[in-house]
This record gives sequence, structure tokens and C-alpha cells, in this order.
Amino acid sequence: MTRFAFFNGAIRPIEEARISVMTHTFNYGTGCFGGLRGYWNADERQLYVFRILDHYRRFLESGKLLLAQLDYSPEDLAAFTLELLRAEGWQEDCYIRPILYKADETIGVRLHDLRDAVTIFSIPMGRYIPAEEGARACVSSWRRVDDTAIPARGKLIGSYVNSALAKSEAVLNGFDEALVLNQDGHLAEGSASNLFVVRNGVLYTPPISSNVLEGITRRSIIQMAREVLGLDVIEREIDRTELYVADEAFLCGTGAQITALASVDHRPVGNGKLGPVTKALRDLYFRVVRGREPRYRHWLTPVFET
Ligand code: PMP
Repeated sequence: MTRFAFFNGAIRPIEEARISVMTHTFNYGTGCFGGLRGYWNADERQLYVFRILDHYRRFLESGKLLLAQLDYSPEDLAAFTLELLRAEGWQEDCYIRPILYKADETIGVRLHDLRDAVTIFSIPMGRYIPAEEGARACVSSWRRVDDTAIPARGKLIGSYVNSALAKSEAVLNGFDEALVLNQDGHLAEGSASNLFVVRNGVLYTPPISSNVLEGITRRSIIQMAREVLGLDVIEREIDRTELYVADEAFLCGTGAQITALASVDHRPVGNGKLGPVTKALRDLYFRVVRGREPRYRHWLTPVFET
């Protein structure tokens, strides 16, 4: 398969998508990114991109946090993405990574008076958190970045040092995944995923004001849980020890999809097995993203002409 990237305003062979070591974002992390998935439906021989415009809306909002000035609309970025995926001819699940970066080759910490640019590339991707029946998580000693330091609601490149510190600490200590507390000591999210907890049949998730990313999978799950499963979903602060006594818990995100938590801090979540609410949501999610739930077909954009 020939690989391409959207770079300098056009689809080009990936080898031509190169930046200088002097690029501002490479030096200071002053960019933002997105992460989307393409799901291959083998029966229909079609690739579906999940919530493409919602992803690009958040992408441009993240850019706004960085004073980015771009002429692209979400629709423009979606069109470039479809062009890229068609050129590459994907016939398997893939992951799409758009990056907005300060392209000037200059030294000096700031956000203003710098040229903004966008690049988009795609890679194959299956499971992101390698735990079929549930991940073993720990609460990280690192706290989530606070809105008073670096806004957590957007996907800002520099803030992923925070996520990487937590993830590596967890994995090097023998866990699969890290959960981070916010500055108030309440649960925020995973290293690159949002968190849900099930207790007595009710679904809880930290509110956006707990310094979590405005996750698109999170938003989709809240809606599907209410509309399809008829569950109560409550956005409120969650204590660390609530997880220890929860019936079920899971992480969600474009990469993580829906990953059950088998244990937290060495304590089994529920009975440590995949719980019924998590399973129902996971099954539903995979039907939705592959185009098998008519109710949510509008969340999907087909890549190939039929
Ligand atoms: N939180 C963080 C820190 C993330 O990096 C991600 C992945 N984008 C998520 C949550 C999940 O967001 P989404 O569902 O939009 O992929």
C-alpha cells in the first residue's frame, strides 16, 4: 500500500511530509492533534470514519486555545481526510492523526505571530490497550493538568507529557493503564481515555470541569446508554475509592474504544470480570462504528463510493 499524507495543502507521498528540527511546535509542543478511527466493514467493503465532523470541530477548538489562525473548516478537513484514505485504499481498521502545528522555524516561546499548518496521516490500528477481558489499572502519582495551567479540554501536544508520565509509570510498575486524579483529588480520566463507573445500574462519569478531555467517545456513550439501554447517566465528581467499590468500570476513547477495568490498585472491580453494562455498551459501540445500527448511521462517513 502506498502511504500518503496531507501536507502543505495537498495529498503527497508520506516521504515528502517532513518538517525541520527548527519547527516551533517541535521545540515547544505548541500544537494540537486529533485522533479518529476508520472502521472496515468487510460485508459492505466500506470504510467508515466515526464522527468525522465532531472530531474536526474539537480539533479546531483545540487550535483556538493556541491562537491558531486557519482558513480550514471542519468540512474542509474532513474532505482532505477522505481524499487521503481513498488514495491509500484502506481495507482494514485504521487510525487517522491530524496535527495542527506552528510551522515557523524560529526560536522564542509564544503562540502569536506564528504560521499555523495542518498535516494528516493514517496508520493501521487494532486494539490500543492490550487487555481483552479487562485492563489492570492503577491510580497514578501524577495529577491531571489543570485548566489553570494547560487546558485539559483540548488535545494539546505539550500536555501529553502529562499523559506519558502517567502511562509509563503505570506500565513500568506492571499495570496496563493509569488513571489520573485532578488537582482536587477526584478521578479525571485514563492516560488517553475517559472514565465511566457503574454502580447499582447507574453510569457515572467525571464532568468536563474535572479537567478531562472533551471526549467524543464519552459523549457518544452517554447518548447511547440513555437512548438505547435506558440507563441513567450522571456526570459528577468521582472519588478514587468509589472505584474500589464499583460494580463495573471502563475506559473509552477513539484508541481505547471501550476497555473494561478488571482491577484498580490491585483490587478487582466488581468480580473482576467483564460486567453486563460494559459488555452491552461495548457490543453496541462495535455495531455502531461498523455501520450496523441504523439509529446512529449519521455518525459515520463512508470513505468509498458505492
Ligand atoms: N482523554 C484523553 C487525554 C485522550 O487523549 C483521549 C483520546 N483522544 C480521550 C480522553 C478520549 O477522547 P476521544 O473519545 O475523543 O478519542
